[in-house]
Amino acid sequence: MSAKVWLVGAGPGDPELLTLKAVRALNEADVVLIDDLVNTAVLEHCHNARVIPVGKRGGCRSTPQAFIHRLMLRYARQGKCVARLKGGDPCIFGRGGEEAQWLRERGVEVELVNGITAGLAGATQCDIPLTLRGVARGVTLVTAHTQDGSSLNWQALAQGGTTLVIYMGVAKLSEIREQLLAGGMAADMPVVMIENASLPHQRECRSDLTAMEKDAHDFELKSPAILVIGAVAACEVDQKIAAFGSSYRLQAVSV
Ligand code: SAH
Repeated sequence: MSAKVWLVGAGPGDPELLTLKAVRALNEADVVLIDDLVNTAVLEHCHNARVIPVGKRGGCRSTPQAFIHRLMLRYARQGKCVARLKGGDPCIFGRGGEEAQWLRERGVEVELVNGITAGLAGATQCDIPLTLRGVARGVTLVTAHTQDGSSLNWQALAQGGTTLVIYMGVAKLSEIREQLLAGGMAADMPVVMIENASLPHQRECRSDLTAMEKDAHDFELKSPAILVIGAVAACEVDQKIAAFGSSYRLQAVSV
């Protein structure tokens, strides 16, 4: 038996967005450690695997990261094939990198499997192209939540001319709004807040930079949600894109 840990992205929620490689990993796994944002419907691809919830909202409340590390190591050393299933992509705000490094340092074979990250899925579900010729020539994925209290370079984000996709931002709407306004972003920059992206109960709230906090409050926006901020967030109607796109692009260039 060859012990191995697969660090697998389960995608944003819709089980059809799972990759074929993730399906193979689940198929081969003896043990599956599952995070709380993973849709358990994907477990239909497991065969007799032992499933252990390790997320904050799973069976074990707030499972410490060190405990998850030891659990993966223990099963791998028993010769088991372990699938560590994470929401979205394992390496986008998912600790995939640090888990892979920790296991490899202890001689465990690790394979990372991409998943579709929530920010990309959410935008697509709302028909928003995160990059668009002549409107947004890049996309920046950021988290509003830091453990060490460090701060983002908000001015660079506000003036960078890329679409911003913000994770873990629901509790930080006031700070995001204030920092981006202070950083020079247009007050009426379009914003879309997408809750439970790709799931049947997905909800989206369309707003702009000035109104986003109030609109999210009235909408009762809840986590998990991502924020898409940029001219492309107005992309509902093709003509609107063209209008918003050119005006915001000019503003971005002139600052
Ligand atoms: N690795 C994950 C991100 C984990 S961080 C990924 O690649 O998607 C957790 C944050 O991801 C949440 O606070 C939320 O901002 C976002 N998120 C995860 N799933 C989501 C979903 N289905 N809809 C909207 N946001 C989601």
